[in-house]
Amino acid sequence: MHDHDDAPAMHPETVAVHAGRPPREPDGPMSTPVHLASTFHEGGPTAYGRYGNPSWTAFEEALGALEGGACVAFASGMGAISAVLALVPTGGVVVAPRHSYTGTIGLLDDLVATRGVSVRYVDVRDADAVADAAQGADLVWVESPTNPALEVADLAAIGRAARAAGALYAVDNTFATPLLQLPLESGADLVVHSATKSISGHSDVVMGAVIARDADLRDRIATRRSLGGAIPGPLDAFLALRGLRTLPVRLERAQANARELAARFANHPALDEVRYPGFGTIISIVVAGGADAAERVAASTRVWVHSTSLGGVESQLERRRRWPAEADTIPDGLVRLSVGLEHVDDLARDLEQALGHAADPGDGADGARARTAPPAASGH
Ligand SMILES: *Cc1c(COP(=O)(O)O)cnc(C)c1O
Repeated sequence: MHDHDDAPAMHPETVAVHAGRPPREPDGPMSTPVHLASTFHEGGPTAYGRYGNPSWTAFEEALGALEGGACVAFASGMGAISAVLALVPTGGVVVAPRHSYTGTIGLLDDLVATRGVSVRYVDVRDADAVADAAQGADLVWVESPTNPALEVADLAAIGRAARAAGALYAVDNTFATPLLQLPLESGADLVVHSATKSISGHSDVVMGAVIARDADLRDRIATRRSLGGAIPGPLDAFLALRGLRTLPVRLERAQANARELAARFANHPALDEVRYPGFGTIISIVVAGGADAAERVAASTRVWVHSTSLGGVESQLERRRRWPAEADTIPDGLVRLSVGLEHVDDLARDLEQALGHAADPGDGADGARARTAPPAASGH
């Protein structure tokens, strides 16, 4: 956006609507079009479609403005995470939450096996433990709240520890979004998003992003993208930006729904636990009776969609341990709820009737269907 230096900073709601727009000129389009181009006339800085695209740039300007840094868009959240972890030298040391997103754990396992990296897993709620682990580390990686345990880290305290240790500090901000948490203000060098989730928000795009504190880090990340090739499609970037325009208003509604549901179900007899960090749109419930009971609940909803992923306008749920890669310290009966924009009474009523199936094995056919294995090794 073209803020004047003496003007007060715009609010995020306004930035989300106006950042990354083309110049205001007669008959110019309001939105940057989908630029379907593999190559560009020579003489400019972009040259080729793997190095840049105006549709990426529009998205990057908007998300970068919201996070307060320089954004590089990726083909997926994992593409973004791969680019950050590629900054860790061979034989380097990474600090990471023991309940990181399953894909992140899988990638860290791979770095351990192939590049001699060692990983110190920590409880991100314990800032002192993270600070101890940061000694001699190359990268402190934090996810907060964690997926799906919903543990919350003290980002500023960890930022001070990472700085004192001379380690790079990166935060996966997918669950909180820049509306609820600004890691760069807490000392992070890099922020990562699965833009597949709340940022695009309509369950129709897979995309990711890295936002860097400074131009040097931005360039290193962009170089990884050019070399690794994990580039987003121009249409995906367009859709993700269109979703981002309404992020503040979607988040407000979904968060209000989540708060209300967490309160209404807090003491439900079919639940051992309701985890909600007090903000955001994700709730994890632990169904009494374990895996089978939780699968029956997930298979019995009519409004909530039984599917992996999160952050869409539609409320979704799934039992996380159905994914073999999920940590075995996540309760077997934990069902992650991604709260969407429906009327809260409809969500509550549907969840209530689904919970009614928890203790009821029903006929054998239902039970068998409920335990069908998912197709791939890690959920989202
Ligand atoms: C989904 C997710 C990712 C991975 O993003 P993709 O877009 O699926 O590659 C990373 N981190 C968190 C917290 C996620 O929820």
